[in-house]
Amino acid sequence: MIAGNWKLHKTVAEAEAYIQALLPRVSTADGVEVVICPAYLALQAMVDSTRGSRVAVYAQNMHQAPEGAFTGEVSAPMLCELDVGGVILGHSERRELFGETDRALQLKVPAALEAGLQPILCVGETEDERDRGDTERKLRHQVQEGLAKVPIERLGEIVIAYEPIWAIGTGRVATPAQAQEAMAFVRALVADRSRAEADKTRVLYGGSVKPDNAAELLALPDVDGALVGGASLDAESFATIVAAAG
Ligand code: PEP
Repeated sequence: MIAGNWKLHKTVAEAEAYIQALLPRVSTADGVEVVICPAYLALQAMVDSTRGSRVAVYAQNMHQAPEGAFTGEVSAPMLCELDVGGVILGHSERRELFGETDRALQLKVPAALEAGLQPILCVGETEDERDRGDTERKLRHQVQEGLAKVPIERLGEIVIAYEPIWAIGTGRVATPAQAQEAMAFVRALVADRSRAEADKTRVLYGGSVKPDNAAELLALPDVDGALVGGASLDAESFATIVAAAG
């Protein structure tokens, strides 16, 4: 899976221009699940424009409740009504800037699954945590909390994105050894509950993935894809990363 997180970028018109440029460039990427994650307001347009193509459309967040008094929020049934295929949950920007908690994620991940959405659960350590030797403790906490209410037989359906926070949007990328070690650890955490499900779980790397470093990262044994921020905003550079996964 190669997923592009557009964050707070692209109006509907800009998204339309982008998708017309992207579709022909990824039409032969056999075996790669290509995902774009636009802002809410461009979801419907992107679902319509990608119908029948290999590109899936996911949201960047959702509320855990199906409905209720939660001003400004969007629910899983609302996303499903648009034919959105999945949702990023617990991105570090949501955690750091918007108060997203592990407690809420414990509810969001199963709520997305039950609604038929593919969850991408994001986890990762800060630079301070890595320097203090706390990377594994942080990952253990985030993975265990995020998956706590997922039934054991559905664990393998979760996509987990390992995103070292110090590598997001900074141009600093984890070394292959750092990425492999952390991602093998993430998979081992799933295996603590079910070895068979851990083998099915897809683990993505995220953090300054670019056309020139994608192939090396995607070749790592425990890497099943990438979550791409900045480099997904340009159709050509995103298509080059998709090609590196093919
Ligand atoms: C992200 O926001 O998930 C991300 C990985 O961003 P970037 O690729 O820009 O580091």
